[in-house]
Amino acid sequence: MNEFESEAYQHELNIRRERLLGAISSDTGDVHIADLLQQVDRALERLRNGTFGFCETCHDAIEPERLAVDPLLRYCLDHLSDAEQRFLQRDLEMATAIQNSLLPKNGVTVPGWTTQFHFQPSGPVSGDYCDLVPASNGSLYFFIGDVSGKGVSASLLMSHLHAIIRTLVESMPGTAEIVTRANRLFCEGTAQKNFATLVAGRAYPDGSVEISTAAHCPVFVIREDRVQRIPPAGLPLGLFCRIDAKATTISLEKGDSLFLCTDGLLEARNDQNELFWEDRLENLLRHAHRMSPGNVLDLCKRELVSFTNAGRPTDDLTLLSLARI
Ligand SMILES: [Zn+2]
Repeated sequence: MNEFESEAYQHELNIRRERLLGAISSDTGDVHIADLLQQVDRALERLRNGTFGFCETCHDAIEPERLAVDPLLRYCLDHLSDAEQRFLQRDLEMATAIQNSLLPKNGVTVPGWTTQFHFQPSGPVSGDYCDLVPASNGSLYFFIGDVSGKGVSASLLMSHLHAIIRTLVESMPGTAEIVTRANRLFCEGTAQKNFATLVAGRAYPDGSVEISTAAHCPVFVIREDRVQRIPPAGLPLGLFCRIDAKATTISLEKGDSLFLCTDGLLEARNDQNELFWEDRLENLLRHAHRMSPGNVLDLCKRELVSFTNAGRPTDDLTLLSLARI
């Protein structure tokens, strides 16, 4: 932990201390407040003697995302007490239920388009974002993204992004405006170190598609004679409050499709530590013209399992396919 972080924690703990002192003086001897005050004092002591942020059992660093949420923590995830583990399990179950409720219905079909997605967290919850929103004029908004970090803190940011975008879709017609405005709201509503990559798209019944990206993985356009890549452009959401996103418009024929993914696919590694990466995916997708979205996803999942030798995924994985029908 650097000096800046240590000072930030000290400031944070002192604020909590003052609040607790305020509460205790107006209270008739609340034991819980006295106990919390003691815990804050012990955390301040750990900051002074340099043991703050390290597990008291194994002396390894406590997971930074957990510490940022609760600076009173004294143990890493591997060394929680039984009661703490039960609480954590309950929190995770709730977070999983919330996240699942935010996913769109699978197999959304609108005039001219049919879709399928695959959402696979590497742990109980995911930092990936995926949404499909049919619009009133027959078009379909589609979104895929990846927020920084992993686990519960990332899944909370994902929920935040989901809420921002759902609100914007109601009032902003263009994908560029959605990305520009979402960036601003994400910047204002999250801590400085958090960011998210995003692709925002809108598919129309006539086969035209508008796409805006914020530094997310390429979008693959599967055509009869070639696979076209729309490279990642722009900056991730949350880094700078003012960005002006641009939109690209492409046109798809019947039988063509779009394939989007998160880095859980492109950055998967095999036993030789090689990356799955974009060229392998592009070669694979050359065989996917006229395939249904479900079959495209199955093709990619099979290739990933064979590439990683069925190893355990280390990152959240989301795949999204939209076919022109
Ligand atoms: Zn430990």
